Amino acid sequence: MKQTGDLNLVKKINKSIVLHHIRSASPVSRARLAELTGLTKATVSSLVSELIDSRLVDEIGAGESSGGRKPVMLRFNGTAGYAVGVDLGINYILTALTDLNGNRVEQYRMKHANSSVEAVIADLIACIREVIGRAPDSAYGIVGIGIGIPGFSDEQGQVLFAPNLGWENVPLQQRIEQEFAIPVVIDNEANAGAVGEKQFGTGREAAHLVYVSIGMGIGTGIIIKDELFRGSSGFSGEMGHISIRYDGKPCRCGNAGCWELYASESALLEQARAVLPDIDVSVETLIRQAEEGNAAAIDCFERLGGYLGIGIVNIINSFNPELIVIGGRLAEAERWLRGAVHEAVEQRCWPYPRAQLQVCFSALGSGATVLGACSFAIGKFFASTKVSVE
Ligand SMILES: [Zn+2]
Repeated sequence: MKQTGDLNLVKKINKSIVLHHIRSASPVSRARLAELTGLTKATVSSLVSELIDSRLVDEIGAGESSGGRKPVMLRFNGTAGYAVGVDLGINYILTALTDLNGNRVEQYRMKHANSSVEAVIADLIACIREVIGRAPDSAYGIVGIGIGIPGFSDEQGQVLFAPNLGWENVPLQQRIEQEFAIPVVIDNEANAGAVGEKQFGTGREAAHLVYVSIGMGIGTGIIIKDELFRGSSGFSGEMGHISIRYDGKPCRCGNAGCWELYASESALLEQARAVLPDIDVSVETLIRQAEEGNAAAIDCFERLGGYLGIGIVNIINSFNPELIVIGGRLAEAERWLRGAVHEAVEQRCWPYPRAQLQVCFSALGSGATVLGACSFAIGKFFASTKVSVE
């Protein structure tokens, strides 16, 4: 009996390997799959038949012949299911629905007042329900929900600490799973953003990249050798709390002069309120003012860009990445931030790590985190052996 169990396990593993190659090399022939996996053609054919029956793979007609009969090409069926991704912000919830290839098909945004943990969870549930309601019919339905949070979580998906939300020990994964009976993944929003950029954005070709998420605070997601770097206990990437002024303002983290006190949205708004007392200051109004040529608003952005550049120099010196992507809502202010950021990097950084480096603003805008969160949910779906077996 034991042997039967082991053979089943081997088959499961082989099937998920075949599926992995079809997902990454689509369109691909059975013969090519045999080459890629090292499995026999007969084994590949039998596993492919099962994958076609399970609707995860389609045949899409004949491909190029390398001599002899033209092979039938196989394609991963990305619309066999859908995933929900959520960017839980301090004052907004952005929710997206993607297919299994990560193509965004729906999006929904809501502001929240952060009046209580329960109120935010109720809004979160409403947003998720909204995009699930818009999902097209599919073989597997909603395969998972990924949520990027502005804080830390443990392996059980409990939000340990989200300082800007004021959350401590909130069992978020459990609450959302109870509500929808769908697997849920919780991760830091900057980690999700880094994965979003790596899979769907500017970072596709980069093996070493750092995603800098600028919101009310600053978080970073670090990708080293194509993998998300989480540190020994999952708390890596808190670059917002590197000191850029040793005797600077005290920070709630216990340190002083932290980068995010000078280069985040909060820092921008604080400065803007002082120099533009007649305006109802927000990121949107400041962008509008800058577009209309308001010199004080432009000056606020440029000053912020300078501070942003100083932190980025520290990241370059620490990680020697090939790409740094600046994301979050402030990426929309690229026009006024870019010059100061690049100037700081040119002036303060050694030429060697700079030579291969690109510093850019996210083309996904605030979408990097939701897409990364979807990717976490899709990854969990394919990691569950259940799927690749039946
Ligand atoms: Zn700090």
